[in-house]
Amino acid sequence: MSERIGFIGLGIMGSGMARNLVEKGHDVTVWNRTTSRADELAAVGATAVDSPKAVAESCDITMICVSDTPDVEAVLHGGQGVLSGLGEGQLVIDHSTISPSATLRFAEEVGDLGAFWLDAPVSGGSEGAARGTLSIMIGGDADQFERSVPFLEAFGTTITHVGPTGAGQLVKLVNQILVVGTQLAVSEALLFAEAGGLDLEKTLSAVAGGAAGSWMLSNRGPQMIVRDWRPGFTIDLQQKDLRLVLEAADELGAPVVGTGLVFQMYRALQRRGLGGDGNHALVKALEEMSGITLGT
Ligand code: NAP
Repeated sequence: MSERIGFIGLGIMGSGMARNLVEKGHDVTVWNRTTSRADELAAVGATAVDSPKAVAESCDITMICVSDTPDVEAVLHGGQGVLSGLGEGQLVIDHSTISPSATLRFAEEVGDLGAFWLDAPVSGGSEGAARGTLSIMIGGDADQFERSVPFLEAFGTTITHVGPTGAGQLVKLVNQILVVGTQLAVSEALLFAEAGGLDLEKTLSAVAGGAAGSWMLSNRGPQMIVRDWRPGFTIDLQQKDLRLVLEAADELGAPVVGTGLVFQMYRALQRRGLGGDGNHALVKALEEMSGITLGT
């Protein structure tokens, strides 16, 4: 348990994950592009440094949780990047959801320095990051997976080694296909309930515990019926993940009919300036089509 942990990217997810590491007693060094977010972690016991390079130089394991593929690229490369501070035997764990094929390239670059890479995207939303109950899907070397587990347990309850490098990101995309399909079903169902004049709260209570129950229904359903669009996961980030799904599906020749439809619905909402809403605001696209408004 004596390995020093670095954390880069203290957004909605990273701040909760890093805070859990600190609270579980780990030695944590942080960097965030916007300094104030690192200061918040320093206030609860982390050490804030001034570059990704400084994180890699002072830690055995460097965790990354930034937005998209170019952002992982940005924190890895350049004079102040992770790669310039990385040494033999060190481990980089990428919790961002990014391109599976770029992941292979990053892992190779890290491997050229004698270090290791695990792709370890997460699921469970901002609530899971804060409570330490994330699902983590991991691709990479089995020994490095074993090395990482005692630290990942600080913020994850389901920690699964799913295969070689890149497999973690592919499983995360499987997860996203399931998430948006469920989100479309929840949106249609609640708008249908609204059209039928049902009590939405009672409807949710009646169905959430049965065969139709889901994380999305239980966590976002109550938000949707009171028109609370604050994001656990923004439409912009959701759309980024769907782009990754569509790209990977194209490479693999896999049909993703429903996911393509939801991608277009989110695109319409982005055009209306709603990219900062939570992904449960998908229902607004159906409201626009039907003239029915949820929760009125
Ligand atoms: P977020 O709140 O928008 O935070 C993004 C983080 O990335 C911030 O710390 C941001 O720094 C940093 N960042 C972005 N671009 C950067 C760049 N070019 N260089 C350096 N830092 C950069 O996003 P989030 O919700 O935490 O998501 C982070 C990752 O987790 C994403 O890949 C997302 O898909 C994935 N994820 C999110 C959820 C969720 O429910 N939110 C669930 C599962 C997985 P600043 O503070 O300076 O902007």
